[in-house]
Parts: sequence; structure tokens; C-alpha cells
Amino acid sequence: MCLDWIWPTACAGCDRPLAGRLCVECAANRPAATAPPAGLDFATAWAPYAGPIGRAVRRTKYVPDRDLGVLLSVRAAEALGPLMVDEAAWVPVPSPWDRRLWRGFSLPHLFVRELNRCRPQPIADVLAIGRGPRQAGIATWDRRANVAGRLRITGSVPPRVVLVDDVVTTGATATACADLLRLEGAKHVGIVALCDARSR
Ligand SMILES: [Zn+2]
Repeated sequence: MCLDWIWPTACAGCDRPLAGRLCVECAANRPAATAPPAGLDFATAWAPYAGPIGRAVRRTKYVPDRDLGVLLSVRAAEALGPLMVDEAAWVPVPSPWDRRLWRGFSLPHLFVRELNRCRPQPIADVLAIGRGPRQAGIATWDRRANVAGRLRITGSVPPRVVLVDDVVTTGATATACADLLRLEGAKHVGIVALCDARSR
């Protein structure tokens, strides 16, 4: 980013000056299994959302900052890739086209690309979602219905799926995705995320 020339780079997670976009301490997360949302077989996250990585993810999405999204994805994929199951396909959790257009990228898709570099497996970009109310601010029991009515399948669903998302908030989106994937033939569905808001 050209501003770096004027303001040397501070860490996007902890604001430590001259630390690069993501300092060594903020990047040093150990992936952890978290509670699988309903309908899923496993869930793994690189970092808790209530920490510096959650902060960096929010910056990535709401500034928006694609370079930071790539950097977070690279670091997370290096940590998570070796833990993943064999013979599963990466399936990015979709975001509505208007939000993708505004942001200029999709963080789950950036993350899939980096995961695939560390752990080459088929990428099945088979989920799409129509526009609708944002999940933020909607109660958990309504979130699932909010997503489910707008999700659709756009391709052939593999039997073993690893959903890839930026943040697991309540798990409602993952559950809605898993329900639909299972209807279309998936037998095993897990999720891997940069952050899980349910873990500390
Ligand atoms: Zn930091």
C-alpha cells in the first residue's frame, strides 16, 4: 500500500509500529478444533475472533484491504492445511454479489486459494447466495432461515466437503450450507475458518 511510504506499517492485529502488516506474535496461532455447528462433522479455526486476528479480519472486510486478506489467508493456510482431511473438496462459503462487488474480493475465496496451495484438493465453488439482510444483528434462530432461503447450488456436490469461511459467528450460515449440500449428496461436511467467534 502506498501509504506505507509515509506511515511505516503497523500490525493490523495489535497496532505495533514497524511490525509489518501482521507481527510475528499475532500470526503465531495454533489452529484449534471448535464445536461443530449443527449438521457438520467438524470445525477448525485458526484463531479466536475476539483477538488480534479477528481485528485484522474486520479490517480486511470493512476497509476493505485485499492484501491483508491474502496475508491472513497465507498464514492461516500454512497452519491449517496440514491438518485437513484427505479426499475432500474445498467449498467456499459464498457472499452476495453486491457485497463482493463493493469489497472487490471474497475473503473465503482468497482463503481457499491459499489452502489449496498448502493442501491441493479439488475446489468446488458450488454455493451461491442471493442478496438479503446482513447476518449481523439477526438472532441466531433467524440467521439460519435468513441464509437458507437465499442459498442455491450451482454445480455438482462432492461427497466430502470442507466449507471454507472467514468467520464462524454463530454457526448458522455453516449449518444452512451443510443442510443444502447434504440434500444434494454430500455425506461428510466440515468447516475451516480464519476465526471462530464462539471460541476464546
Ligand atoms: Zn500484532
